[in-house]
Amino acid sequence: MLPAQCLLCHLPSNDKLICEHCQKVLLKPRSCCQHCGLSLLISQPFCGDCIKQSHLFTQLHALADYQVPFSILIKQLKYKKNLLAGELLGQLITQSITRHFTNTEIQQIDYLLPVPLHHKKQRQRGFNQTQLLSHLISKQLTIPILLETVKRHKQTTAQEGLSLQKRKKNLNNAFSITPDRVNTLKGTYIVIIDDVVTTGATVNSLCQLLLQAGVKQIDVWCICRTALPAQKNR
Ligand SMILES: [Zn+2]
Ligand SMILES: [Zn+2]
Repeated sequence: MLPAQCLLCHLPSNDKLICEHCQKVLLKPRSCCQHCGLSLLISQPFCGDCIKQSHLFTQLHALADYQVPFSILIKQLKYKKNLLAGELLGQLITQSITRHFTNTEIQQIDYLLPVPLHHKKQRQRGFNQTQLLSHLISKQLTIPILLETVKRHKQTTAQEGLSLQKRKKNLNNAFSITPDRVNTLKGTYIVIIDDVVTTGATVNSLCQLLLQAGVKQIDVWCICRTALPAQKNR
């Protein structure tokens, strides 16, 4: 049953998860780097990092910066398995995608790939939040999900609080492709689904593997794009 009140402001919501006003505020277009989705204060096409070096994906689309209420909703989904929070995030990112991309662009995508969790972590948490988000997006946009193809076989220490260099090292060979699924990937256009992208180390590590396997193009869709605080960057 859907709540009669907006999950966020408690005003009447017309049988939707959130009211029209909240929806409008949350889907406000961001001023961000067209390549990596990093939030920019001034209106320019690319961030400083992307001018210097390129990520391995073609484009990252983020619903929002890592801020309230998104940060809270993500934590409620991830650590408390609050499915209503997940449902809301899934709805919002899908709406944001259909506003940002044309139908023709969306139809060219072959698969959604949720960032895999290590099987121990998945057992611990009981589910993979990126898989849940992928299912919600997949249902709306009718793009199939690529499952059982990429494995996270190394249990990496938490990325949070690590510098960019350490994040990259932490992820060396963290993922692998199931050998009998390699042929599925050749020449495909894949969109990686993640909840929060910070340095992009995780998605770049996945991209490297996918490109080696012959994937043609990779985009990234995530709920939040954030940056490491400047002093922690090196
Ligand atoms: Zn509201
Ligand atoms: Zn950028």
